[in-house]
Amino acid sequence: MSRPFDAIVIGAGQAGPPLAGRLTTAGMSVALIERHLFGGTCVNTGCMPTKTLVASAYAAHLARRAADYGVMLDAPPRIDMARVKARADAVSANSRAGIEGWLRAMKGCTVLKGHARFVGPDTVSVGEERLTAPRIFIDVGGRVLVPSLPGIDEVPYLTNSSLLSVDHVPEHLIIVGGSYVGLEFAQIYRRFGAEVTVVEMTARLVGHEDEDVSQAIREILEGEGITIRTSAECIRLAPHAGGVAVGLDCTEGDPEIVGSHVLLAAGRRPNTDDLGLDKAGVGVDPRGYIQVDDFLATNVPGIWALGECNGRGAFTHTAYNDFEIVAANLLDGEARQVSDRILGYALYIDPPLGRVGMTDSQARASGRPLLGAQRPMSRVGRAIEKGETQGFMKIVVDAETRRILGATILGTGGDEAIHGVIDIMNAGALYTVLQRAVPIHPTVSELIPTMLGELQPIR
Ligand SMILES: Cc1cc2nc3c(=O)[nH]c(=O)nc-3n(C[C@H](O)[C@H](O)[C@H](O)COP(=O)(O)OP(=O)(O)OC[C@H]3O[C@@H](n4cnc5c(N)ncnc54)[C@H](O)[C@@H]3O)c2cc1C
Repeated sequence: MSRPFDAIVIGAGQAGPPLAGRLTTAGMSVALIERHLFGGTCVNTGCMPTKTLVASAYAAHLARRAADYGVMLDAPPRIDMARVKARADAVSANSRAGIEGWLRAMKGCTVLKGHARFVGPDTVSVGEERLTAPRIFIDVGGRVLVPSLPGIDEVPYLTNSSLLSVDHVPEHLIIVGGSYVGLEFAQIYRRFGAEVTVVEMTARLVGHEDEDVSQAIREILEGEGITIRTSAECIRLAPHAGGVAVGLDCTEGDPEIVGSHVLLAAGRRPNTDDLGLDKAGVGVDPRGYIQVDDFLATNVPGIWALGECNGRGAFTHTAYNDFEIVAANLLDGEARQVSDRILGYALYIDPPLGRVGMTDSQARASGRPLLGAQRPMSRVGRAIEKGETQGFMKIVVDAETRRILGATILGTGGDEAIHGVIDIMNAGALYTVLQRAVPIHPTVSELIPTMLGELQPIR
């Protein structure tokens, strides 16, 4: 016997819970299934604990620099990793409990703990139970990709999840992967006092950003004593008396380094391999991401995929926006599409990288006539006053339509200041609207209109 519902939601990550909220408010009976921790990656092993650690690392960094501000500390700061960890754990636990409590109290929502698997296009099993519904929403997220490196099975390694359980500072943390997750952890642990080496297979860090951004980030991290090894081909791992030996063929530097711990941060994979998608006939791409159309519907009528598992976004805000799109289309008679989304995101090193829209190289590749401008953070009053002048901001505009195509703020407050550009791009307004705004002084944002006044043709 199957238990019938109006809708089934698989996964209590970033899209599932708010969707359950909208569906039940609309009068539907909803089964929400979660196999592990309520709140998913962001709350438990992603954004929230890591940004809490970023804040602790920033405090340590500022304490070390206190004398620069005329604040004299009697002794160098000491990291109590158990307290740092307890703070991050508490932030996650509060959020997790809030989401679970909200779902369990939600009228019309039945919460089931367990692993959901399709047994047919409208039927899902959870343990011994069978649930059926005409609408099924998949929000199963992703997990770390374990690359098939030689020796990977012979050494202990950490992931973004297991590193959060470590309550001491590793002596030497080797991080495989020089993109978002890897770089955030690199700076966090360096500031906590670890020796840190980042090993990146490609020629530069955060390879999908412009080269000048990659280079500036490298300089910021190297300036704090992090060793960066790019073009690291043939990475191999082996047990070593001192921890783990990592062999790498780089154009320069030692062919082998030894670390006390290794963190894998070389990508993510969707949690779709054990979901019975074949039983429902739901199509996936070669990497396992569920294929969806612009409305997030799969190839099977009545089944949608939201969040990281559909490969259309790898962020909490994109997962949440997926919920908004699906809910608006199903319940409000709208026709919202993923392709309408203007993507913004941040890399939470310090100073942070705030980004929106195209990179310069993407804008150039589009073949449009372009205008661009740049400003170093050393010419931003707010940054000078804060003593945080690393980085730069830049913007690229379509010379014909006079609309902003993309912007980058690598600098203090960059994750917040970028929203001025995000907002104007979403409004579909000409860049001159932002140029003529009267921003607050002193802020990082106030230099965006100034920069727009300095646009020059770029090629
Ligand atoms: C270290 C790190 C830092 C990050 N920092 C940021 C950041 O600062 N900003 C940002 O925007 N993004 C960040 N992200 C990415 C962000 O966490 C994810 O993009 C976001 O959580 C995706 O949400 P989701 O709903 O798609 O999936 P998830 O949050 O992963 O939720 C999926 C849920 O589904 C459950 N589930 C999976 N399979 C099943 C099944 N078969 N049955 C039942 N339940 C199942 C899982 O247990 C999980 O709870 C970070 C990620 C990492 C790893």
